[in-house]
Amino acid sequence: MNTILIRQGREKSILHRHPWIFKSALKNPDEAIEPGSIVAVAEESGTKLGFAFCNPKSQITLRMIAYGTDVKIDDDFWENTIAAAVTRRTGLTGDGRNTACRLIYGEADFLPGLIADRYGDFIVLQCLTAGIEKLKPAVVDVLTQLLKPAGIYERSDADVRRLEGLPETRGLLYGKEPPADLTVQENGLSFVVNLSGGQKTGFFLDQRLNRSIVASYADGRNVLDCFSYSGGFALNALRAGAASVHAVDSSSDALAALQANAGRNGLDTTKLTVADADVFQYLRTLRDEGRKFGMVVLDPPKLAPTKTQVERAVRAYKDVNLMAMKLMEPGGILATFSCSGGLPTEEFRRIVGWAARDNGRELQVLRVLTQFEDHPVRMNYPESEYLKGLVVRVI
Ligand code: SAH
Repeated sequence: MNTILIRQGREKSILHRHPWIFKSALKNPDEAIEPGSIVAVAEESGTKLGFAFCNPKSQITLRMIAYGTDVKIDDDFWENTIAAAVTRRTGLTGDGRNTACRLIYGEADFLPGLIADRYGDFIVLQCLTAGIEKLKPAVVDVLTQLLKPAGIYERSDADVRRLEGLPETRGLLYGKEPPADLTVQENGLSFVVNLSGGQKTGFFLDQRLNRSIVASYADGRNVLDCFSYSGGFALNALRAGAASVHAVDSSSDALAALQANAGRNGLDTTKLTVADADVFQYLRTLRDEGRKFGMVVLDPPKLAPTKTQVERAVRAYKDVNLMAMKLMEPGGILATFSCSGGLPTEEFRRIVGWAARDNGRELQVLRVLTQFEDHPVRMNYPESEYLKGLVVRVI
């Protein structure tokens, strides 16, 4: 096993147990190491720090998998680390109301680049680092033993793989193909999830709790669900007694799934309408038509995937929040989210406040929301926190 030395002073982040080490922190970057190799990591003085995945092709050249010296990286290590992550999710499914959740959340579960989501009897994997790519067969074995899934499907069609020098890929890794009409339960509602072709790994699991919290304000209100996808917020709001729900998304597949989901749950579909539109334009149309809503949900896609795109994203977040507030009845409830990891929580709050001021509105913050606990935020890895949400009363 190669040992990689860290420049003096740059070992601090490892001692603080941050998992990433950038190329600039390496004493002698070795471009010849095979991407995905496991290496020992040591201080310049030789003091051992732990073990990492190494990928000379990536600016994040090392990703720590274990700290200290009293650990052996062997089959048992991987089995235990994967089993521990899965065990931490005990109770998040199996209550009869929920059959889907994230099982492994990459670095936050000490498995850099590995995402595993459970959808009923199926598992979807995403391998986002060369280290995990190499271990994929072992990961599939461990998950198969542990969970006896009907199938494991890979959705490594994420563009971040490019930063690791890996091509995008998808396909069946084990068992049978997930059926096109696979349904899962969330908060006691059923949703069809398309594991092979849906967005992300098929469903936005990180919003589970937020959907029911937001729905608790929906009773009797006319709800506008922007960026609705397959109806996570819309259906929870309908069930909670919304007077009407209007869902907007630019994906016709998502809207077709939403309507099928509403019917499947026996919800009153006469209260549900959808619009296949670009939300940024469509909010202006609604304004021009003089439409008003008692509740608006804004759950846009990642507008700032990385720090460099933040400036443009700030304008987009400001715009969409400002337009939403223009459509609100007095005392209306706005549930607004950002899933951009590059946008800090305080900055998001500042943008929402700024939109309100430009609108001559006052806001009362009723709830501060984050990602569901199946996507836990690891304290020593702040990058694991990405979803921010506010439920505000617009006055
Ligand atoms: N609220 C959803 C998740 C939203 S994900 C849920 O609870 O499941 C973001 C959604 O925004 C996707 O469905 C995507 O199709 C849609 N989208 C992306 N850009 C859009 C745009 N400009 N206008 C409308 N919808 C858009």
